[in-house]
Amino acid sequence: MKRFALLGEPLGHSVSPALHKAIYRQLELDDASYRTVELPNERLKSFFTGFRVGGFDGVNVTIPHKASVISLLDEVDSKAKLINAVNCVNRVGNKLTGYNTDLLGFAYSLRQNSVAIEGEEFAIIGAGGSAQAVGVALAEGDAKQVSIVNRSEERAQALKDVIALSGENTKIEIIQEEDLEKRAGKLKCLINTTPVGMSPATRECPLTTKTTDAIFDQDLVVFDLIYNPLQTTLLKRAEKKGSMAINGLQMLVAQAVYSVEIWMGGNIVTHVDVNALARDVEKAIK
Ligand code: NAP
Repeated sequence: MKRFALLGEPLGHSVSPALHKAIYRQLELDDASYRTVELPNERLKSFFTGFRVGGFDGVNVTIPHKASVISLLDEVDSKAKLINAVNCVNRVGNKLTGYNTDLLGFAYSLRQNSVAIEGEEFAIIGAGGSAQAVGVALAEGDAKQVSIVNRSEERAQALKDVIALSGENTKIEIIQEEDLEKRAGKLKCLINTTPVGMSPATRECPLTTKTTDAIFDQDLVVFDLIYNPLQTTLLKRAEKKGSMAINGLQMLVAQAVYSVEIWMGGNIVTHVDVNALARDVEKAIK
């Protein structure tokens, strides 16, 4: 039996066990299990001692441990190192290697929605762990420009530095929300990476109506990494103005499938029905 788990705290709301079980069902893997392990920081080290000697075959890592697990690993993939966030750990023998599949999941979702990156302009709202994965994916795809809007200047600067290391063809600027209006008509895609609007505070929106009214139109794509609810207030406003609206569900499913690829080997992402998996997760959310 292959044993996998999600580490984090708190995990009460997690849809990951339902998602992974749906992936294993599609792949007809009868001998794989996936469970949540709610773990405070002080128990992380002892968990990894047991994991290393065979407690689990692989784990996913979520808030608040994505950065702190790095010091407990033998190797970290270069992109995960750059982002300073590991969300997937693979064990081969007693050796533990860390990866970041959020980045792959985000790029997958853009591709599936035919949103090109190369030569296009993007805006990222937020500058945390997921913003770093998004920023690196955009720079690697040779985006023309990335504008960062974030509450704290310090994290915006850290995100700018990480994006700058990922692609020399991408211009990066830190702006205020009001400055987004100047980018109207030039922006290809706006991406919310903050938790603002997530359940239960679903009426909240990371941008004011003044901004969304000024920049949302049929030429803009609005991508919200949130998947609960499936349609955030931001995405409702986007659809009302004719913008293409993408929620975080497909990215969530894809990052999970990429984790399974890392654990099991082989090219799994092209062999599973991601949309069917997304429907399974939708049922778990509702
Ligand atoms: P994080 O590292 O904590 O970063 C959150 C960012 O949001 C920070 O930059 C923070 O600003 C900003 N922020 C938080 N609350 C805010 C508020 N009230 N007003 C303005 N800005 C605020 O979190 P994360 O790991 O990046 O996750 C962010 C969201 O992405 C979550 O909703 C998560 O569920 C979602 N996510 C989805 C997927 C997927 O597969 N769909 C994957 C990863 C994450 P400061 O820098 O000023 O603190």
